[in-house]
Amino acid sequence: MTDQNAKQLVSDFSLAYGRQRSAIRELFEYGKMKAREVGSASIFDFSIGNPSVPPPRQIEEAFFSLLKESNPLTLHGYTSAPGDLEVRKAIVGQINREYGCAYDENSIYVTCGASAALTITFRALSITGERNEFITLAPYFPEYLCYVEGNGAKLIVVPPKFPDFGISIEGIEAAITPATRGIILNSPNNPTGRVYTTEELKALGDLLHRKARDIGRPIYIVSDEPYRELVYDGVVTPFIPNIYRNTIVCYSYSKAFSMPGERIGYALVHPEANAARDICDAIAGSARSLGYVCAPSLIQRVVKLCVDVKPDLASYDLNRQAMYEGLTEVGYNCVKPEGAFYMFVEAPGGNAQAFSDYARLNYNLLIVPSESFACPGYLRISYCVSLERIKSSLPLFDMCLKSFKRDNKMK
Ligand code: PLP
Repeated sequence: MTDQNAKQLVSDFSLAYGRQRSAIRELFEYGKMKAREVGSASIFDFSIGNPSVPPPRQIEEAFFSLLKESNPLTLHGYTSAPGDLEVRKAIVGQINREYGCAYDENSIYVTCGASAALTITFRALSITGERNEFITLAPYFPEYLCYVEGNGAKLIVVPPKFPDFGISIEGIEAAITPATRGIILNSPNNPTGRVYTTEELKALGDLLHRKARDIGRPIYIVSDEPYRELVYDGVVTPFIPNIYRNTIVCYSYSKAFSMPGERIGYALVHPEANAARDICDAIAGSARSLGYVCAPSLIQRVVKLCVDVKPDLASYDLNRQAMYEGLTEVGYNCVKPEGAFYMFVEAPGGNAQAFSDYARLNYNLLIVPSESFACPGYLRISYCVSLERIKSSLPLFDMCLKSFKRDNKMK
């Protein structure tokens, strides 16, 4: 068989997504390659959201005690497809205590991180044989495109709301059609650091109730929450299902527990959501069809022992202050993030790709241009690196801005 024939046997979608790297991962891989050449001390990698703060002490203790004390056959065996029963009870118990809800163990499906939770939720909400649309707000986490399109649905992107990157109610209203199945929200937001307020969420809830009546079917919020606990200056992340019950929370322990490589999170359906039982079953069926049954057993059990543990916010907050003050002092413009660990900075000169390339090639500063977030003209700086790294990068950011302006004859 020729390569040409063989090519026709693989899906165009998978081929395209397999070959196109994300802008974030492209820079991350470049950083690793370049570090082998010039040494990692010379590379300032602000590309990916890999936490630098070590996992809370309790996580490590849980790993050790489980490995020492548990029956290895149980510990490393398959769990129930939606997650071990005791693990699910522990997670919903924590949510119920913290947010005053009444979830039970059947409301939750434990997954390999938020990515899997999102993917199976999009599949679960899509109706076979129909056009299915999911709406998100720019700037958005670029992987949504792949998760939504991989399920045969369409991602509809609402333009950014300037200057505060809040929820564009008018934009969402204009984007809703009879094919709308869900609105993807991410708060605290990657890349802007924005945390949506209760007022904004109530206004969105009112709109969705009204529009659902118009189109004759529910519109769900798919709430992507890997950064739920990472908030600063006393900001609280509103728990969206308490405002709009047709919400499916897609949570991840990747960031709060600094263990993104362990792959653990969940999808959570409000028990009083429209068709809640059917959605839970569809999530289970979607997970099954995508091969996501039974998230890694050891990590599930670690989570069970640590559900009440909180992340070390102080370290990220120090990073946030240092980065924000350091950048704005030398002339960069950005809104101070309220949550997550990203800074969304206006690209000097307006061309984000050009500035990102310039910073990379001249100063080994790896910062992500915002084109793939559907919000051109910005740079995303992931500040979950060590504080020392941030401090030593600031003179480079300063020189980079000055020389970029000089080379491009900017004021
Ligand atoms: N959603 C957002 C907004 C993210 O930033 C990330 C990871 O960076 C994910 C989802 C995926 O998270 P996970 O590691 O849990 O799959």
